[in-house]
Amino acid sequence: MPSEKQITKTEVVIVGAGPAGLGCAALLKQMGIEDQELIVLERGEIGESFLRWPKTMRLITPSFPSNGYHQTDLNAITPDTSPAFSAGKEHLSGEEYAKYLDMVAKHYKIKVTTNTQLDSVSSRGPNKGYELLAGELTIHCKFIIWAGGEFQSPNTAGFSGAELCVHNSKISEWDQLSKGHYVVIGGYESGVDATFNLVNKGYEVTLLDIGGAQQDTFDPSRVLSPYTAERLSSLSSAEGVEYDDDFEVSNVYQQGDGYVVQSTDGKEVFTPFPPINCTGFEIDLGPLTDFFVYQDNGYPWVSPFDESTKMRNVFLAGPRLYHDPTLLCFIYKFRGRFAAPCAVIASELELDTSIFKHYKQAGMLLQDLDCCKEQECFC
Ligand SMILES: Cc1cc2nc3c(=O)[nH]c(=O)nc-3n(C[C@H](O)[C@H](O)[C@H](O)COP(=O)(O)OP(=O)(O)OC[C@H]3O[C@@H](n4cnc5c(N)ncnc54)[C@H](O)[C@@H]3O)c2cc1C
Repeated sequence: MPSEKQITKTEVVIVGAGPAGLGCAALLKQMGIEDQELIVLERGEIGESFLRWPKTMRLITPSFPSNGYHQTDLNAITPDTSPAFSAGKEHLSGEEYAKYLDMVAKHYKIKVTTNTQLDSVSSRGPNKGYELLAGELTIHCKFIIWAGGEFQSPNTAGFSGAELCVHNSKISEWDQLSKGHYVVIGGYESGVDATFNLVNKGYEVTLLDIGGAQQDTFDPSRVLSPYTAERLSSLSSAEGVEYDDDFEVSNVYQQGDGYVVQSTDGKEVFTPFPPINCTGFEIDLGPLTDFFVYQDNGYPWVSPFDESTKMRNVFLAGPRLYHDPTLLCFIYKFRGRFAAPCAVIASELELDTSIFKHYKQAGMLLQDLDCCKEQECFC
């Protein structure tokens, strides 16, 4: 007789132990959720995406331990922690930020089931919750928070021949590349970071961008951060770099021993090495893709509680949250939404929400989703 499968029963499963998943978990812990009511699944280690960053890459948003003045460190995921304080740095590397996340998990006693990937999810029927398969585990739960991030889904479909390029997320050390001339496609944060690091290590680079970042806004989701703008400006006097900010890539193809990058208006650049693709990441919700419906711009529709509009009790946390016109793609933005799914979970599990007041004072409770719309920055 086949043995009966072991089923782990819990209330909440959070998928991903990055800033979004751990931020929600830390809040639930502060609200009094019991250990057996929460499972955090992580397919790698805590902070896996950050551990995969190229070693020279840094957080572009600065960290500063100003929490006591209700101006919480921009990269903190709880009001009472600060990456600047723990690392003694303003711009942490991926490894340093992963270490901060690990400290947060330990401090709030969040148990993370590492090296365990969520493979599939199915509904158990109306009001019966969900069945999740993750490696050897079968889990039954009521609530799911998808916090799987974006790093694992490089955008490799932006132009024809993109498969011939190397996505920047696949490069662990810039100076492991053979010396010579590289073409970097995409002049936003990652493209400028790649160019800056390559040029500083003695490589020649042609940086191609579609037309410069929009300058009619100061929202860092739509315009270069000051950190990157400063680096870009320093490149203007550097040797070995060319910058074409009017180059919309249409096609990459192989020619002899190298590659030709073509623009939509017929310009061409040759490089002996696979071009470096810095065009960002796709919107990919993994095994929960079909549990959401999508806006015309590809972002999932969510309720005011960041719940799927298709499936009850399935929530989204992290950089793929888009409440028109507010893009929540930075840590200091999406952390303001940790309370949204937690409020729904709290009402069902009778958790204590008094901590929300502290989050509000710390600027970590974003309820006005039109906040950026009318905001002006006079100088
Ligand atoms: C180069 C670069 C620089 C950046 N700089 C900044 C910055 O300065 N400031 C800022 O605010 N943001 C920055 N970002 C964006 C920031 O890194 C992301 O917004 C942030 O990591 C998103 O957090 P997350 O928890 O949603 O995702 P992640 O940190 O990617 O965490 C998701 C986790 O989920 C796990 N996972 C995925 N799928 C599964 C599955 N099926 N089962 C189990 N586990 C799974 C992954 O292994 C990962 O650990 C930067 C991003 C990049 C790429």
